[in-house]
Amino acid sequence: MKQLALAVAVLSLSLLATQPNQATKRWWQHVVALSGDDLQGRDAGGEGYRKAARYVVTQFERAGLKAAGEGGYYQSVPLHEIRLVPRDSSAELVRGQTVTPLRWLHQVTIRMREPMPNRIDAPLIFGGGGDAPQGLDMRGKLIVSLNGHAPPAIAADALGAISIDNPNALEPPHWPLQYAVTMRLAETPAGKPAPLALRFNPAEAELLFQGSGHSYKELADLAAQAKPLPWFALPSAFRASLQSSAADLKSDNVLAVLPGSDPVLAKEYVVVSAHLDGYGIGEPWGADSIYNGAFDDAAYVATLIDLAERLHDAHKTLRRSILFCVVTAEEKGLLGSKYFTAHPTVPKEQMVADINLDQLRPIFPLKILTTLALNQSTLGDTVKTVANSMGIKIQPDPEPERNLLRRSDHWNFMQIGVPSVGFIFGFEKGTPDEAAYREWYAKRYHSPLDDLNQPWLPEAAAKFNDFFNRLVETVGNADARPQWTAQQPLH
Ligand SMILES: [Zn+2]
Repeated sequence: MKQLALAVAVLSLSLLATQPNQATKRWWQHVVALSGDDLQGRDAGGEGYRKAARYVVTQFERAGLKAAGEGGYYQSVPLHEIRLVPRDSSAELVRGQTVTPLRWLHQVTIRMREPMPNRIDAPLIFGGGGDAPQGLDMRGKLIVSLNGHAPPAIAADALGAISIDNPNALEPPHWPLQYAVTMRLAETPAGKPAPLALRFNPAEAELLFQGSGHSYKELADLAAQAKPLPWFALPSAFRASLQSSAADLKSDNVLAVLPGSDPVLAKEYVVVSAHLDGYGIGEPWGADSIYNGAFDDAAYVATLIDLAERLHDAHKTLRRSILFCVVTAEEKGLLGSKYFTAHPTVPKEQMVADINLDQLRPIFPLKILTTLALNQSTLGDTVKTVANSMGIKIQPDPEPERNLLRRSDHWNFMQIGVPSVGFIFGFEKGTPDEAAYREWYAKRYHSPLDDLNQPWLPEAAAKFNDFFNRLVETVGNADARPQWTAQQPLH
């Protein structure tokens, strides 16, 4: 009994320590509304996304924002997708009389393109480091390699490549994968079909090497020691039949504005952006097939709603106008922001900054904020000033090799000349914060586990939301608009 009482006391203490404040409770209600199972993971083009968009519009209206879309709050984005139908497709490895069936999305996947072949039947070659051996015939073959150790060049007449995922990557892939879908803006021409690009589950990769005299383990060990990898023919062929479905879809960006109060500066817009789409419904993990995308990125659409509410509650306007830009199809290749920046609903040159919210996880204390594009414009200086006033340290991206700069919607704003920033909760190397950060990527990123049941830290969420509010106010009220200080990065 005594032990039980102690356990209860400890439990209530730890709950007390993490009770969210009022503002954070209100924010979390929006997160709950946007990431419940009823919204089915908010896949771009789906009904769950449409419901989520209606929720955002209702909240924006309630907070007094004006419509800034095309004839209302919405901007309809025409999309085209091609999707693998796994249940009507097959794949196998064929070696002599031995046929090993493979399961799509569990063992192997393919990048969808148009047109998609109905059948693949190709011999395999393992492609090691350096140039291919003289006279090697790659015609019509698939070149197998380890992700991160692909040969620098494969022959133009090769059929394509099979890349074995790296299980030790900073963002280790989660098998089974959600689905195989490629989406593009309907207005972007399909272009010339790219070579076939397949991916293989590393846990199943020994299958590829059976009878070759080599093993996946041996090659992965060589790669880990930075030793050269050999080239050799594999005795198996890859054979598949592919059923795909193509569809034209529409999905909406949600656009709203808080008009500025200054007669001159009100013509300028500070854009605040976050993506509303998630991965939708995919291959189940256990019994769970809903990829809720709670922290990626429902929570930060909620932060935009929270900003609108706080300004409304305080009867506050800023000198510049604030454009709330909630975009679709980020997870399908930044498509909603690509469409918006190609068809902006306010003049392009009057958008003075984009502050984009994605890639943020409030799972450990906020002491450091990694700021993407920190040194590219004076916006970075404003970020530092605001953060320092709150005891938050600002740092540039310590892992530029992950390419996070190009992996969220701020990138498309930068492409049309708008100084932009994006944020990541930062950590000191070797700390529990780093472990929590890495574990989140290893376990929850783009998986059904990024849902409402995951642990999070109310103080961290609250501190970021406060920081974001102060930053928007500072940029919105500053005398001068942000300026590029480095060359505007282009594709
Ligand atoms: Zn995201």
